[in-house]
Amino acid sequence: MFTDAHCHPFDLKRAINGAVEARRRLGIMCAASATGAEEFAYNEELARTAKAEGAPPLLPCFAVHPQLPASLPGAGDAGGRVRDGLALLESFACEGRLAAVGETGFDLFNGAFRETEAVQDELFAAHLETALRHKLPLVLHVRRAMHKVFAHARTLAKCKAVIFHSWPGTVGEGEALLRRKVNAFFSFGTAILLNHRETMRCCAAFPLSRILTETDAPYQPLRGARHSTWEDLPRVLQAAAALRRNAGAAGSSAGELETAVENNFRAAFGPFE
Ligand SMILES: [Zn+2]
Repeated sequence: MFTDAHCHPFDLKRAINGAVEARRRLGIMCAASATGAEEFAYNEELARTAKAEGAPPLLPCFAVHPQLPASLPGAGDAGGRVRDGLALLESFACEGRLAAVGETGFDLFNGAFRETEAVQDELFAAHLETALRHKLPLVLHVRRAMHKVFAHARTLAKCKAVIFHSWPGTVGEGEALLRRKVNAFFSFGTAILLNHRETMRCCAAFPLSRILTETDAPYQPLRGARHSTWEDLPRVLQAAAALRRNAGAAGSSAGELETAVENNFRAAFGPFE
């Protein structure tokens, strides 16, 4: 079964037609990110439908996205949106409606994001605390901020699982997290089809039991496309298998890798029915 460790079905539906049908046709099990109430409700509805149809599960996740503070101009209503988001996170977690807390993390990609670093720190601390208290996996979004992840490594090692969406680090950084006993899973998407050298090296070098696949749909398009979609997933899997084959690593055929990645997905997010 194909598995997508990170996607945005609500945004994908608005970006392209036929997304839901494509997922059904390809039989993709996925973890669906949401950062607002309407988006989360949409994902829960997809999850209910999948269950009723006996289709592969869709797992609803929720977090206040680390880019949110920078997306609100000036002082804006950032404070209110952040507070509302954290209140939702807490209520979803308490009601047992979350498969994971995420995507949370740090985005220091440019000056506008770096200006909100203090708010991002507070947000991350709150999400981490919720994940630990409710024994939920954590899905991380990290851009130019791996040092901040390492600063939290001891606490992250207590998490049920830490899923690095679109793994942004080096081989050495990934191995260091595992040495520090973080139950880390490294998720790879279209970047490995776009010649991102270090990401490709990571995809070939990491233990087979730590590899996940994702689309981040609709946000990581292939060249010539406007959006990434669930249709990209078989290509991601094939590219990942080819990288591992060339490196002489386990998981060297698409079939073998698909099975391993499905097991990893279940280990990271499960147990679930
Ligand atoms: Zn995302």
